[in-house]
Amino acid sequence: MKKKIPSFIEIYTSLIKIPTISSENNTIDLSNKILIDLLSNYFSELNFSIQIQNIPNTNKFNMLSSFGSGKGGLLFSGHTDTVDFNEKAWTTDPFKLTQKNDKIYGLGVVDMKGFFAFLLDVISAINIKEIKKPIYILATANEETDMSGAKYFSEHTKIKPDCIIIGEPTCLKLIHAHKGHVSYKIDIFGDTGHSSNPSNKINSIEIVYEIIKQLIDLKKYIQQKYSHKDFSISYPTMNFGSIQGGSAINRICALCSITFEIRPIPQLSLNTIEILLKEKLKKTRKKWPNRIFLKNLFFSIPAYEVSKKHKIVQKIENLCKMNCSTVNYCTEAPFLKKIAPTLILGPGSINQAHHPDEYLDCSFIKPTKDILKNLIIKFCY
Ligand SMILES: [Zn+2]
Repeated sequence: MKKKIPSFIEIYTSLIKIPTISSENNTIDLSNKILIDLLSNYFSELNFSIQIQNIPNTNKFNMLSSFGSGKGGLLFSGHTDTVDFNEKAWTTDPFKLTQKNDKIYGLGVVDMKGFFAFLLDVISAINIKEIKKPIYILATANEETDMSGAKYFSEHTKIKPDCIIIGEPTCLKLIHAHKGHVSYKIDIFGDTGHSSNPSNKINSIEIVYEIIKQLIDLKKYIQQKYSHKDFSISYPTMNFGSIQGGSAINRICALCSITFEIRPIPQLSLNTIEILLKEKLKKTRKKWPNRIFLKNLFFSIPAYEVSKKHKIVQKIENLCKMNCSTVNYCTEAPFLKKIAPTLILGPGSINQAHHPDEYLDCSFIKPTKDILKNLIIKFCY
Protein backbone atom coordinates (compact mmCIF):
# COMPACT_ATOMS: atom_id res chain seq x y z
CA MET A 1 0.00 0.00 0.00
CA LYS A 2 1.24 3.46 -0.85
CA LYS A 3 2.05 5.55 2.20
CA LYS A 4 -0.39 8.39 2.75
CA ILE A 5 1.01 9.51 6.07
CA PRO A 6 4.31 11.13 7.14
CA SER A 7 7.42 9.11 7.97
CA PHE A 8 7.85 7.20 11.23
CA ILE A 9 10.05 9.90 12.77
CA GLU A 10 7.76 12.71 11.58
CA ILE A 11 4.76 11.02 13.17
CA TYR A 12 6.73 10.30 16.35
CA THR A 13 7.79 13.98 16.50
CA SER A 14 4.22 15.19 16.04
CA LEU A 15 2.89 12.99 18.85
CA ILE A 16 5.57 14.02 21.35
CA LYS A 17 5.11 17.70 20.46
CA ILE A 18 1.58 17.81 21.90
CA PRO A 19 1.57 18.06 25.71
CA THR A 20 -0.91 15.55 27.19
CA ILE A 21 -0.08 15.56 30.89
CA SER A 22 -2.57 13.93 33.23
CA SER A 23 -2.40 14.91 36.84
CA GLU A 24 -4.46 14.87 40.02
CA ASN A 25 -3.37 18.51 40.22
CA ASN A 26 -5.94 20.45 38.14
CA THR A 27 -3.52 23.26 37.38
CA ILE A 28 -1.28 21.01 35.28
CA ASP A 29 -3.84 18.47 34.04
CA LEU A 30 -4.38 18.85 30.26
CA SER A 31 -6.96 17.75 27.72
CA ASN A 32 -5.75 15.13 25.24
CA LYS A 33 -8.14 16.32 22.51
CA ILE A 34 -5.49 17.69 20.15
CA LEU A 35 -3.58 14.41 20.21
CA ILE A 36 -6.79 12.39 19.74
CA ASP A 37 -7.65 14.52 16.70
CA LEU A 38 -4.18 14.06 15.25
CA LEU A 39 -4.31 10.28 15.72
CA SER A 40 -7.80 10.24 14.19
CA ASN A 41 -6.49 12.08 11.12
CA TYR A 42 -3.58 9.67 10.70
CA PHE A 43 -5.76 6.58 11.00
CA SER A 44 -8.42 8.10 8.70
CA GLU A 45 -5.71 8.51 6.07
CA LEU A 46 -5.17 4.75 6.34
CA ASN A 47 -8.91 4.21 5.75
CA PHE A 48 -9.70 3.34 9.35
CA SER A 49 -13.08 4.40 10.69
CA ILE A 50 -12.94 6.54 13.80
CA GLN A 51 -15.03 6.80 16.93
CA ILE A 52 -14.21 9.43 19.51
CA GLN A 53 -15.59 9.08 23.01
CA ASN A 54 -15.71 11.83 25.61
CA ILE A 55 -15.17 10.69 29.19
CA PRO A 56 -18.23 12.24 30.88
CA ASN A 57 -17.64 15.45 32.83
CA THR A 58 -14.04 15.77 31.63
CA ASN A 59 -12.12 17.30 28.73
CA LYS A 60 -10.57 13.88 28.03
CA PHE A 61 -11.23 11.58 25.10
CA ASN A 62 -10.74 8.01 23.92
CA MET A 63 -10.37 7.10 20.26
CA LEU A 64 -11.22 3.78 18.67
CA SER A 65 -10.16 3.35 15.09
CA SER A 66 -11.10 0.20 13.22
CA PHE A 67 -10.44 -1.45 9.92
CA GLY A 68 -12.25 -4.52 8.63
CA SER A 69 -15.39 -6.14 9.91
CA GLY A 70 -16.54 -9.44 11.28
CA LYS A 71 -15.74 -11.38 14.38
CA GLY A 72 -12.61 -11.35 16.46
CA GLY A 73 -9.47 -9.62 15.34
CA LEU A 74 -6.78 -7.77 17.24
CA LEU A 75 -7.00 -4.63 19.33
CA PHE A 76 -3.84 -2.63 19.98
CA SER A 77 -4.19 -0.27 22.90
CA GLY A 78 -2.17 2.62 24.27
CA HIS A 79 -2.72 5.59 26.52
CA THR A 80 -2.40 9.11 25.16
CA ASP A 81 -1.42 10.86 28.38
CA THR A 82 1.93 11.24 30.11
CA VAL A 83 2.98 12.08 33.63
CA ASP A 84 4.17 15.56 34.54
CA PHE A 85 7.88 16.36 34.17
CA ASN A 86 10.53 18.20 36.15
CA GLU A 87 11.87 20.86 33.81
CA LYS A 88 15.12 21.28 35.74
CA ALA A 89 15.92 17.58 35.59
CA TRP A 90 15.46 17.25 31.80
CA THR A 91 18.49 17.97 29.63
CA THR A 92 16.43 17.88 26.41
CA ASP A 93 13.10 19.52 25.59
CA PRO A 94 10.44 16.98 26.72
CA PHE A 95 8.19 18.00 23.81
CA LYS A 96 10.85 17.88 21.11
CA LEU A 97 11.79 14.46 19.79
CA THR A 98 15.58 14.45 20.10
CA GLN A 99 17.74 11.79 18.52
CA LYS A 100 21.23 11.28 19.90
CA ASN A 101 23.53 8.39 20.89
CA ASP A 102 21.18 5.87 19.27
CA LYS A 103 18.34 6.96 21.51
CA ILE A 104 15.15 8.95 20.97
CA TYR A 105 14.33 11.35 23.81
CA GLY A 106 11.00 12.95 24.71
CA LEU A 107 8.14 12.79 27.20
CA GLY A 108 6.03 9.78 26.23
CA VAL A 109 8.51 8.15 23.84
CA VAL A 110 8.21 4.83 25.68
CA ASP A 111 5.29 5.55 28.03
CA MET A 112 3.69 5.47 25.56
CA LYS A 113 2.70 7.79 22.74
CA GLY A 114 5.49 6.31 20.63
CA PHE A 115 3.55 3.06 20.32
CA PHE A 116 1.08 4.82 18.00
CA ALA A 117 3.93 5.89 15.71
CA PHE A 118 4.95 2.22 15.45
CA LEU A 119 1.40 1.10 14.69
CA LEU A 120 0.88 3.78 12.04
CA ASP A 121 4.19 2.99 10.39
CA VAL A 122 3.58 -0.77 10.32
CA ILE A 123 -0.03 -0.52 9.14
CA SER A 124 0.82 1.97 6.40
CA ALA A 125 3.37 -0.46 4.97
CA ILE A 126 1.14 -3.54 4.68
CA ASN A 127 -1.67 -4.35 2.33
CA ILE A 128 -4.40 -3.91 4.86
CA LYS A 129 -7.21 -4.38 2.31
CA GLU A 130 -6.59 -8.12 2.34
CA ILE A 131 -7.21 -8.65 6.04
CA LYS A 132 -9.89 -11.17 7.03
CA LYS A 133 -10.26 -10.11 10.67
CA PRO A 134 -10.64 -6.56 11.99
CA ILE A 135 -7.82 -4.47 13.43
CA TYR A 136 -8.66 -2.01 16.17
CA ILE A 137 -6.55 0.75 17.65
CA LEU A 138 -7.62 2.13 21.01
CA ALA A 139 -6.13 5.37 22.36
CA THR A 140 -7.17 5.98 25.96
CA ALA A 141 -7.20 8.96 28.32
CA ASN A 142 -6.14 9.36 31.94
CA GLU A 143 -4.09 6.19 32.34
CA GLU A 144 -1.63 8.02 34.56
CA THR A 145 -4.30 9.20 37.01
CA ASP A 146 -7.45 7.10 37.43
CA MET A 147 -7.57 4.95 34.28
CA SER A 148 -11.03 6.40 33.61
CA GLY A 149 -10.48 6.20 29.84
CA ALA A 150 -9.96 2.43 29.75
CA LYS A 151 -12.66 1.89 32.36
CA TYR A 152 -15.23 3.93 30.44
CA PHE A 153 -14.36 2.33 27.13
CA SER A 154 -14.57 -1.23 28.46
CA GLU A 155 -17.96 -0.53 30.01
CA HIS A 156 -19.45 0.96 26.82
CA THR A 157 -17.99 -0.83 23.83
CA LYS A 158 -19.63 -3.62 21.88
CA ILE A 159 -16.56 -4.80 19.97
CA LYS A 160 -15.31 -8.31 20.62
CA PRO A 161 -11.73 -8.73 19.43
CA ASP A 162 -9.98 -12.07 20.06
CA CYS A 163 -7.12 -10.41 21.90
CA ILE A 164 -5.84 -7.06 23.15
CA ILE A 165 -2.20 -6.01 23.09
CA ILE A 166 -1.26 -3.03 25.28
CA GLY A 167 1.96 -1.41 24.04
CA GLU A 168 3.40 -0.35 27.41
CA PRO A 169 7.20 -0.59 27.51
CA THR A 170 8.01 -4.22 28.33
CA CYS A 171 11.38 -4.39 26.52
CA LEU A 172 9.38 -6.35 23.92
CA LYS A 173 8.63 -9.13 26.38
CA LEU A 174 5.18 -10.64 26.30
CA ILE A 175 3.44 -10.05 29.63
CA HIS A 176 0.40 -11.98 30.84
CA ALA A 177 0.20 -10.87 34.49
CA HIS A 178 1.06 -7.95 36.71
CA LYS A 179 0.65 -6.86 40.29
CA GLY A 180 -1.96 -4.38 41.46
CA HIS A 181 -1.67 -1.34 43.66
CA VAL A 182 -3.71 0.05 46.52
CA SER A 183 -2.71 2.74 49.00
CA TYR A 184 -4.20 3.93 52.26
CA LYS A 185 -3.94 6.66 54.82
CA ILE A 186 -4.90 6.21 58.44
CA ASP A 187 -5.53 9.34 60.51
CA ILE A 188 -5.45 8.81 64.27
CA PHE A 189 -6.90 11.49 66.48
CA GLY A 190 -5.80 11.84 70.09
CA ASP A 191 -6.24 14.76 72.47
CA THR A 192 -4.34 17.98 72.69
CA GLY A 193 -2.77 19.26 75.92
CA HIS A 194 0.42 20.06 77.79
CA SER A 195 2.81 17.17 78.28
CA SER A 196 3.18 17.92 81.99
CA ASN A 197 -0.30 16.53 82.65
CA PRO A 198 -1.03 13.49 80.47
CA SER A 199 -3.73 12.06 82.76
CA ASN A 200 -7.02 11.27 81.00
CA LYS A 201 -5.51 12.38 77.70
CA ILE A 202 -5.00 10.16 74.70
CA ASN A 203 -1.80 10.46 72.74
CA SER A 204 -2.31 9.51 69.08
CA ILE A 205 1.23 8.14 68.77
CA GLU A 206 0.42 5.47 71.34
CA ILE A 207 -2.56 4.35 69.24
CA VAL A 208 -0.41 4.35 66.11
CA TYR A 209 1.96 1.98 67.85
CA GLU A 210 -0.87 -0.56 68.15
CA ILE A 211 -2.03 -0.02 64.59
CA ILE A 212 1.42 -0.53 63.14
CA LYS A 213 1.69 -3.84 64.98
CA GLN A 214 -1.63 -4.95 63.43
CA LEU A 215 -0.51 -3.88 59.97
CA ILE A 216 2.77 -5.75 60.26
CA ASP A 217 0.75 -8.83 61.23
CA LEU A 218 -1.36 -8.32 58.12
CA LYS A 219 1.75 -7.96 55.99
CA LYS A 220 3.13 -11.27 57.30
CA TYR A 221 -0.24 -12.96 56.80
CA ILE A 222 -0.67 -11.99 53.15
CA GLN A 223 2.95 -12.82 52.38
CA GLN A 224 2.54 -16.30 53.80
CA LYS A 225 -0.90 -16.99 52.36
CA TYR A 226 -0.51 -15.70 48.80
CA SER A 227 2.21 -16.61 46.37
CA HIS A 228 2.68 -16.71 42.61
CA LYS A 229 5.82 -18.30 41.27
CA ASP A 230 5.80 -16.34 37.99
CA PHE A 231 6.58 -13.07 39.79
CA SER A 232 10.15 -12.08 40.63
CA ILE A 233 8.81 -11.02 44.04
CA SER A 234 6.43 -13.91 44.48
CA TYR A 235 4.24 -12.50 47.29
CA PRO A 236 2.11 -9.37 47.79
CA THR A 237 4.27 -6.58 49.17
CA MET A 238 3.31 -3.98 51.72
CA ASN A 239 5.24 -0.78 52.40
CA PHE A 240 4.82 1.97 54.96
CA GLY A 241 5.37 5.19 53.05
CA SER A 242 5.15 7.87 55.73
CA ILE A 243 4.36 8.65 59.31
CA GLN A 244 3.59 12.14 60.49
CA GLY A 245 2.45 13.46 63.80
CA GLY A 246 2.98 15.85 66.64
CA SER A 247 4.11 19.44 66.82
CA ALA A 248 6.22 19.89 69.96
CA ILE A 249 8.09 17.85 72.54
CA ASN A 250 6.02 19.26 75.38
CA ARG A 251 2.64 18.74 73.74
CA ILE A 252 0.48 15.61 73.67
CA CYS A 253 0.32 14.39 70.08
CA ALA A 254 -3.21 15.11 68.86
CA LEU A 255 -2.96 13.83 65.30
CA CYS A 256 -0.78 11.16 63.77
CA SER A 257 -1.11 9.85 60.20
CA ILE A 258 0.45 6.94 58.42
CA THR A 259 0.37 5.99 54.75
CA PHE A 260 1.06 2.58 53.26
CA GLU A 261 0.58 0.66 50.04
CA ILE A 262 -0.06 -2.96 49.16
CA ARG A 263 0.86 -4.50 45.80
CA PRO A 264 -1.26 -7.63 45.45
CA ILE A 265 -0.61 -10.61 43.20
CA PRO A 266 -3.57 -11.77 41.06
CA GLN A 267 -5.02 -14.21 43.67
CA LEU A 268 -5.48 -11.36 46.16
CA SER A 269 -8.34 -9.05 45.20
CA LEU A 270 -8.70 -5.44 46.28
CA ASN A 271 -11.92 -6.42 48.02
CA THR A 272 -10.16 -9.11 50.08
CA ILE A 273 -7.47 -6.59 51.07
CA GLU A 274 -10.13 -4.20 52.30
CA ILE A 275 -11.86 -6.94 54.32
CA LEU A 276 -8.58 -8.18 55.84
CA LEU A 277 -7.52 -4.67 56.69
CA LYS A 278 -10.79 -3.74 58.40
CA GLU A 279 -10.76 -7.02 60.29
CA LYS A 280 -7.22 -6.36 61.52
CA LEU A 281 -8.09 -2.86 62.73
CA LYS A 282 -11.41 -3.88 64.28
CA LYS A 283 -10.15 -4.47 67.84
CA THR A 284 -8.13 -1.27 68.01
CA ARG A 285 -10.98 0.76 66.51
CA LYS A 286 -13.38 -0.66 69.08
CA LYS A 287 -10.97 0.23 71.85
CA TRP A 288 -10.60 3.81 70.53
CA PRO A 289 -13.95 4.68 68.95
CA ASN A 290 -14.14 7.61 66.53
CA ARG A 291 -10.41 8.15 66.62
CA ILE A 292 -9.16 5.97 63.78
CA PHE A 293 -10.04 6.86 60.18
CA LEU A 294 -9.00 4.74 57.23
CA LYS A 295 -9.19 6.08 53.69
CA ASN A 296 -8.07 5.06 50.24
CA LEU A 297 -5.38 7.21 48.68
CA PHE A 298 -5.44 7.59 44.92
CA PHE A 299 -7.06 5.16 42.55
CA SER A 300 -6.70 1.43 43.20
CA ILE A 301 -5.72 -0.97 40.45
CA PRO A 302 -6.34 -4.70 40.75
CA ALA A 303 -3.64 -7.20 39.85
CA TYR A 304 -4.07 -8.82 36.46
CA GLU A 305 -3.55 -12.25 34.95
CA VAL A 306 -4.68 -14.16 31.91
CA SER A 307 -3.86 -17.85 32.07
CA LYS A 308 -0.81 -18.96 30.13
CA LYS A 309 -2.93 -21.93 29.07
CA HIS A 310 -5.51 -19.72 27.34
CA LYS A 311 -5.77 -20.65 23.63
CA ILE A 312 -5.25 -17.06 22.50
CA VAL A 313 -2.26 -16.55 24.78
CA GLN A 314 -0.62 -19.65 23.36
CA LYS A 315 -1.38 -18.47 19.83
CA ILE A 316 0.25 -15.08 20.48
CA GLU A 317 3.22 -16.79 22.15
CA ASN A 318 3.69 -18.87 19.01
CA LEU A 319 3.35 -15.88 16.68
CA CYS A 320 5.82 -13.83 18.72
CA LYS A 321 8.08 -16.84 19.33
CA MET A 322 8.36 -16.06 23.03
CA ASN A 323 6.96 -17.17 26.36
CA CYS A 324 4.86 -15.01 28.63
CA SER A 325 6.28 -13.44 31.76
CA THR A 326 5.17 -10.99 34.46
CA VAL A 327 5.92 -7.43 35.61
CA ASN A 328 5.50 -5.58 38.90
CA TYR A 329 3.90 -2.39 37.51
CA CYS A 330 0.25 -1.76 36.64
CA THR A 331 -1.52 -1.29 33.30
CA GLU A 332 -5.08 -0.86 32.00
CA ALA A 333 -5.34 -4.64 31.49
CA PRO A 334 -7.58 -5.28 34.55
CA PHE A 335 -10.22 -3.06 32.87
CA LEU A 336 -9.72 -4.00 29.22
CA LYS A 337 -9.95 -7.72 30.09
CA LYS A 338 -13.75 -7.28 30.10
CA ILE A 339 -13.46 -6.99 26.32
CA ALA A 340 -10.91 -9.72 25.55
CA PRO A 341 -7.85 -11.55 26.94
CA THR A 342 -5.18 -8.89 27.25
CA LEU A 343 -1.41 -9.11 26.91
CA ILE A 344 1.20 -6.41 27.25
CA LEU A 345 4.03 -6.01 24.76
CA GLY A 346 5.79 -2.83 23.79
CA PRO A 347 9.12 -1.20 22.91
CA GLY A 348 11.48 0.36 25.43
CA SER A 349 11.98 -0.15 29.12
CA ILE A 350 9.76 0.81 32.04
CA ASN A 351 12.96 2.01 33.74
CA GLN A 352 12.87 5.05 31.47
CA ALA A 353 9.18 5.78 32.07
CA HIS A 354 8.31 8.60 34.49
CA HIS A 355 11.97 9.68 34.45
CA PRO A 356 13.70 12.84 33.23
CA ASP A 357 15.21 12.36 29.76
CA GLU A 358 12.80 9.50 28.98
CA TYR A 359 14.19 7.69 25.98
CA LEU A 360 13.63 4.83 23.60
CA ASP A 361 16.73 2.86 22.75
CA CYS A 362 16.82 2.74 18.94
CA SER A 363 17.70 -0.95 19.06
CA PHE A 364 13.98 -1.55 19.75
CA ILE A 365 12.77 0.08 16.53
CA LYS A 366 13.28 -2.70 14.00
CA PRO A 367 12.27 -5.62 16.24
CA THR A 368 9.11 -3.78 17.35
CA LYS A 369 8.05 -3.13 13.77
CA ASP A 370 8.81 -6.76 12.84
CA ILE A 371 6.78 -8.17 15.75
CA LEU A 372 3.78 -5.88 15.12
CA LYS A 373 3.80 -6.61 11.40
CA ASN A 374 4.06 -10.33 12.01
CA LEU A 375 1.24 -10.24 14.57
CA ILE A 376 -1.12 -8.38 12.23
CA ILE A 377 -0.32 -10.48 9.19
CA LYS A 378 -0.45 -13.85 10.94
CA PHE A 379 -3.45 -13.01 13.10
CA CYS A 380 -5.69 -11.00 10.81
CA TYR A 381 -4.90 -12.24 7.29
ZN1 LIG B 1 2.15 3.87 30.58
